[in-house]
This record gives sequence, C-alpha cells and structure tokens, in this order.
Amino acid sequence: MRFKTLSIHAGQGPDPTYGAVMTPIYQTSTFAFKGVEQPGTFDYSRSGNPTRKALENCLAALEGGTHGFAFATGMAAEATFLAMYGPGDHIIVHDDLYGGTYRLLTTVIAEKGVTIEFVNLRDLDAVRKAIRPSTKLIWLETPTNPLMNLQDLGAVAAIAKEHKVHTICDNTFLSPYFQRPLDFGIDVVLHSTTKYINGHSDVVGGALITSDPVLAEKIGFLQNGMGTCSGPLDCFLVLRGVKTLAVRMEEHNKNALGIARWLDKHPKVESVLHPGLESHPQHALALKQMSGYGGTFSFRVKGGQAETFRLLGNVELFTLAESLGGVESLIEHPWTMTHVSMPEDARAAMGITQNLVRISVGIEDLDDLIEDLDRAFAKV
Ligand SMILES: *Cc1c(COP(=O)(O)O)cnc(C)c1O
Repeated sequence: MRFKTLSIHAGQGPDPTYGAVMTPIYQTSTFAFKGVEQPGTFDYSRSGNPTRKALENCLAALEGGTHGFAFATGMAAEATFLAMYGPGDHIIVHDDLYGGTYRLLTTVIAEKGVTIEFVNLRDLDAVRKAIRPSTKLIWLETPTNPLMNLQDLGAVAAIAKEHKVHTICDNTFLSPYFQRPLDFGIDVVLHSTTKYINGHSDVVGGALITSDPVLAEKIGFLQNGMGTCSGPLDCFLVLRGVKTLAVRMEEHNKNALGIARWLDKHPKVESVLHPGLESHPQHALALKQMSGYGGTFSFRVKGGQAETFRLLGNVELFTLAESLGGVESLIEHPWTMTHVSMPEDARAAMGITQNLVRISVGIEDLDDLIEDLDRAFAKV
C-alpha cells in the first residue's frame, strides 16, 4: 500500500473488542493474564501497550522499516539508543546538528567514556578518514537544524557498511513523507514526533525505526529496561496527527518554498538557507534523496542582532517560540533560543550567527504569512 493509505491504516485495524474504528486509548498499566503462566499479548504497559503498538507499527510502515518504537520524547529515543554504547566506543557525528543532541552527546554520553567526534559528513573523504577500529556509529541529521545542510544518505551508508559501522539518521525535519533514510541503507531512523509527525504542537514524543532484527531486539530491550516509552494518550494523539501527515507536509512545503523565494529577493535579507532554492549548494543532492523540503528553514538578516531582534519583535502572525512542525507558523532565534545549550564558539564555528532566524512555516494562507513578514521587515 502507498504512503497516504498507510498513514491512515497501518497498524490500526478496527479494535477487536467492540470494533472501534479509531484505536482506543488503552489507559491501563497492566493486563489480566488468561490463567497461570498464560499472559495475553500484553502484560504491562512499559513492556507494551496496544495504543503504542498501533503507533509503532504505523511509523515502521511509513519509514519502510519492520520495527518501530515510540518514546516519551525525541531525546528519550536518542538516550535509549545511545545506551548501547560504552567506554572505548567511538561515534562520528555530523558537525552541525540539533542543540539538544549536541548536549546529550557531549555531556551524558561522553561522560560514560564514549568518544564523540564531530566530522563534516558532507565531505566523504573526511568520513572515511574519521573511521577507526573502535568506530561503532555514524550519526546523521539531514537537513540539519537550523542550517539546512544535507548529508548524502546513500554515500555515507555505503562507507559505513564497508567498515561494519552502524548509521542512524535524525529524520525529524522532513518526516517519512519527504525522505526515507532506510531506503538509502541507513540502519535506524530517529524522529522527534513532537514535530511534523504529530504536527499539532500538543505532544512531545520520539520514535526509532529499523529493519535490522538485531538492532530492533536491542532497542526493544532498552525501551523496556529503561522505561523511556511513550504513554497511551500521547500515542493516540500522535496517531491522530499522523493520519494527515501527507496533506500537511504538502502545505508546509508549498508555503515554506513560497516564503523562501520571497525572502530571497528581499533587500533586508542577507541569505536564505533552503534546500529547494537553486542557490542552495546541495540543491542537486536534495533532488536526489528528498521528495520535498518540509516547512522549516533559516535565513540571515542583513545587519546584526539589533536588526534581527527588530524583525522578531514585530511579527504578529508568526509566534516567537521554539519547536517546529506544527500547523501554526513559528519564528525563533537559534543563537539565544534553540541552540543556546551549545557553547558560543561551537555555535559560531557551525555558522549559527546572531543574525540567523529559523522559521517553521505552518499551513495558514501564504499571503497572510508574507504580509506579516513584510510588515515586520518594514520596521527593521
Ligand atoms: C526537537 C528535536 C529533537 C528532540 O526532540 P524532543 O521531542 O524535543 O525531545 C531531536 N532532533 C531534532 C532535529 C529536533 O528538531
């Protein structure tokens, strides 16, 4: 079955008890055994829950994987996955990525004795050179948050496979509707379902998807052992969100590209970082591995922090807030907001400057969004 059908039906047959068409919220911690030594399909909700299972199976189908796992947050998914690694292990990470991932890797995971090395994964020779006998994992995020850099999924996966190194890709920015990393040989897909997959800014959640049975078994063991799973109500909400993923992503994509083209011509804009623009240095790679660009991108305001703050302070329809992927439009300042957990020199080295603005374009009317930015720019 195709994507739009899977998003509505995968993992979600009518409920066996009463035939409920929508997956019920199994708000229960425990399940009655049928008899002594005869558990049912589920026994305890940390280990498994029917609402969660429906979401996990749906997300696995959408990413083209065989196993899905739903977590309390995107960071819970990351922390659970990274619990596989220990002292002496070496992990290669793209040198520009989500601030929370950077913080988790450089504090909690590094303190366990895992060596974290940031490498520009856009340079395939640098990837090859960085691999050591102790390298266990390459961590990709494409496009990156907030700089919209891409990594070649197929090329990095091939190098990793040659060296028997696993790969994980954070696919939060595009969702499986626009990019399916497993199709390019990536081993595990990570999502903050908080963003596009849920799409309504009313849940925090995360997910891991894989087709590797050995990794799936390890992830399942850790999800249960660490207790980082998502609760049934949150799973229900994400399932409801995912049903409209395809139609939402089309609208996000159209609006964001419209705004990117408008900003590109604006005299008060220094540059626009959007992989759908022909001027993006990796536009050809975007066309190769993505079927759309999503709704989140960044741009640099001409001038410095003062000009940028004037823009941020004068929007009305765009809400000044962190996060992304909801139906409503958000605007934020990575330097002081989402990426503040990164040391200043790391931010600067990455290209997160004071005049960088990230927007998450919602599915409102495009003309209203442009008019809002136009009014705010007039005050810059
Ligand atoms: C938000 C985000 C995360 C973390 O997810 P939470 O649900 O906030 O824990 C990870 N990666 C990316 C790219 C994100 O945008």
